[in-house]
Amino acid sequence: MKGRLLQYLSCPTCGGAIILASATESESEEILTGQLSCTSCARTWPIVRGVPRFAAIETVAKDKAATATSFGWQWQHFTQADERYEQQFLAWIAPVTPEFFKDKIVLEGGCGKGRHTQLAARWGAIDVIGVDLSAAVETAFAATRELPNVHIVQADIYALPFAAVFDYVFSVGVLHHLPNPRGGFKSLASRVKPGGHISAWVYGAENNEWITRWVNPLRERLTSRMNPRTLLQLSKLPAAMMFAATKLIYGPVNRLTPGVARHLFYNDYLKAIANFGWREQHTIVFDHLVAPTAFYISRAEFADWWREIGASDVITGWHNRNSWRGFGRISSKTIDD
Ligand SMILES: [Zn+2]
Repeated sequence: MKGRLLQYLSCPTCGGAIILASATESESEEILTGQLSCTSCARTWPIVRGVPRFAAIETVAKDKAATATSFGWQWQHFTQADERYEQQFLAWIAPVTPEFFKDKIVLEGGCGKGRHTQLAARWGAIDVIGVDLSAAVETAFAATRELPNVHIVQADIYALPFAAVFDYVFSVGVLHHLPNPRGGFKSLASRVKPGGHISAWVYGAENNEWITRWVNPLRERLTSRMNPRTLLQLSKLPAAMMFAATKLIYGPVNRLTPGVARHLFYNDYLKAIANFGWREQHTIVFDHLVAPTAFYISRAEFADWWREIGASDVITGWHNRNSWRGFGRISSKTIDD
């Protein structure tokens, strides 16, 4: 943890100021071991292996902890970086561009292994804070500790240790895995400064009926309960089928006869991932099978979320015809969490 993170922290229980009570181990700018404490209610939180721990998985509700454990394992085992991440990330947060990050204080809700946190930092944000509940914070910290403007915090999205200090908050691919996606979105929105912005990307209900009908029951009853190592092996079979279909059919047909490709099943999405390599496609399949919780959000419900936080200038869009992205401005009116 870098000392400059302190200016953004605020007690998740009482809203009081948080100070560094002790630092027993440091390495240049990083406090590796120490303790934080609230000046009002005297709550304390440890800093372990460079990461302030506002939530330990054991103390959060069982369903949230299960999600965090599954994804934490995944992100510690799939650590490949991919240049396509950048294009993918920009597509999820469109119309936001790299220039938008310049001189902003940014929060990522659910940073996983920190790949978007890193991009935001490289694009010129003053500070980027990546929050995650899972053990993926270990990977995220290792991946970002050399970047002076990145901070990784282990915390629950529903009990964030920050006041409304952010110019921009984003969350991609996370809210639909929370037990209450709308509540998570509202909690993130409540940390945006008046006049600041928020982006969210979630799975869509529309066009994903085949997943909700066929994949979800399998995921809920079987795959999310399996040992992740076993699932990793098992998921190679559907991943191989998808890989073959994208390389042999969706890729070539979209290049040669786009008019015909339009009629292929789930074409927009499979076309988009046709250029991905094996590991990336395997990750996508594994991701869909490992999650204990996954909601598919309808356009109407997603629109409601934005109305509820009182956002203005909201731009929502359908991404790959299977998910929703949104971007909006938080008005000066206070949001109730
Ligand atoms: Zn407090």
